[in-house]
Amino acid sequence: MIRFDVELKVDGQRVSPDQWADALSRKVTQAAFQKVRSKVEGVRCPDHGSTPSFSEDQAAGNQESVTFACCCEKLKKAALEALKK
Ligand SMILES: [Zn+2]
Repeated sequence: MIRFDVELKVDGQRVSPDQWADALSRKVTQAAFQKVRSKVEGVRCPDHGSTPSFSEDQAAGNQESVTFACCCEKLKKAALEALKK
């Protein structure tokens, strides 16, 4: 398993954890996470056919970055590509 973090972006702008607390309501933060999730959830590994799985902490909505577990580098690459779209 490979873990990697993705910076949270809201409307294309990177949002730091400090800013989340100050400028963003929890609702907006969760909407942004949801956006990231929906992009990455559609990605499949070309070798293993598996999808990235989200950490349990992230599900609780209190993490500073979005963390996925991937089966291999190929899936990690594909997920990062999907986020750029
Ligand atoms: Zn794989």
